[in-house]
Amino acid sequence: MLKVLIFVLSLLQICFCEKLYNKYKVYDIRVKNENQLLKLKNLDTFEGEARELDFLSLHNNVNDVVKLVVKPEEQNYIEDFFKLNSLDFKIVSENIQDVIDKERDEVSMLSKRKSDVITFDRYYRYEDINKYLDNLANSYPDNVKVKTAGKSFEGRDIKYITITNGDGKSKNSIFIDGGIHAREWIAPAAALYIINQLVDSQSTFSKLLDKVDFVIQPLVNPDGYEFTHNFYRLWRKTRSRSSAFQCRGSDANRNYDFHWSEVGASNNACAETYHGPTAFSENESQISRDIIDEVKGNCKFFLTFHSYGNYLIYPNGYTKDLPENWMDNEEVAQAGAEAISKATGTKYTVGSTSNVLYLASGSSTDYALGVGKIPIAICMELTGGGYFGFDLPASEIEKTVKETLIGVEAMVETVARKYN
Ligand SMILES: [Zn+2]
Repeated sequence: MLKVLIFVLSLLQICFCEKLYNKYKVYDIRVKNENQLLKLKNLDTFEGEARELDFLSLHNNVNDVVKLVVKPEEQNYIEDFFKLNSLDFKIVSENIQDVIDKERDEVSMLSKRKSDVITFDRYYRYEDINKYLDNLANSYPDNVKVKTAGKSFEGRDIKYITITNGDGKSKNSIFIDGGIHAREWIAPAAALYIINQLVDSQSTFSKLLDKVDFVIQPLVNPDGYEFTHNFYRLWRKTRSRSSAFQCRGSDANRNYDFHWSEVGASNNACAETYHGPTAFSENESQISRDIIDEVKGNCKFFLTFHSYGNYLIYPNGYTKDLPENWMDNEEVAQAGAEAISKATGTKYTVGSTSNVLYLASGSSTDYALGVGKIPIAICMELTGGGYFGFDLPASEIEKTVKETLIGVEAMVETVARKYN
């Protein structure tokens, strides 16, 4: 009986999700001073009311554009609040469901365009990503190994690939992941591109592969990713269920067991930055932890792709204090930023998470450095686009991932030199 009830409830949730964005608006807000920033940060509990607001970007930086999604019944209140506090705002979408429908049509149209090889003119789905990894393992048995590290909450295989030059010698390694936050579609695309280039253009990267091995997990959170494709474009978290009637999912990037739940993570199960009921409650963060355990020792660089905003940020997230070896992280991140700036003109901001963006505890980079003892741990917030920042048009994927590789190559070269 209980199973039937849960099934009916999950069906209902699907129906609600599909309707969720009708007449929702996206606002761009320009913050001019610290006071305005503080007011925005406290907006979700303003006048004692808990409001479920989805800030798509809210950093420490005055002069940044803050993006906010607001449901219809809150819009008058929010606009009054902006006016009262002299906040300049612009409505960038009157009905985000239109934007989401348009993007979904485009994804489906592009997926019908047949190609025997992987192309970077589209966003791939979970099954295609795993199929691609398995095909590489079959085609390049000497250089490529693919392992299933475990299963997501909903039972999807989570895979990672090891790419070497095939000489069998032990080397330092680089661990790259993408897609821990479901809605940041460019992150798994960038990880796939790195895999594609390392394997298919081995001659170009042979010098790099003589120095280091790559371990790449392109899709950390497949449940969330598929959910963003099928139902709820702005979903960020995992899809776990800590109780049948609660909001689902945890922010896997607040779920690592290092200063877990201290700051910059929410106790509210419905919030976007919910840290989960316990540290490592999520299959997805457990799997990343296990990979870190497996590679640690040899691994000198953990790199995690997110979007958006063009940041290269390193620990600490849980405190404004810097880690002992912050200068090494700064040097590597700067190498990436400089290479990109020189090649394309895109400017990346470099610094520690807490100082450049915001305080956030329980993140993968803090864990990789703090517990995994991987000396360089960097989060790369890639270029944004579209209406939300996360909906970078498919036509801009190729340009973005190529630029990303330029930065990654420069960072890996620096790491290889430093830890030779
Ligand atoms: Zn993210």
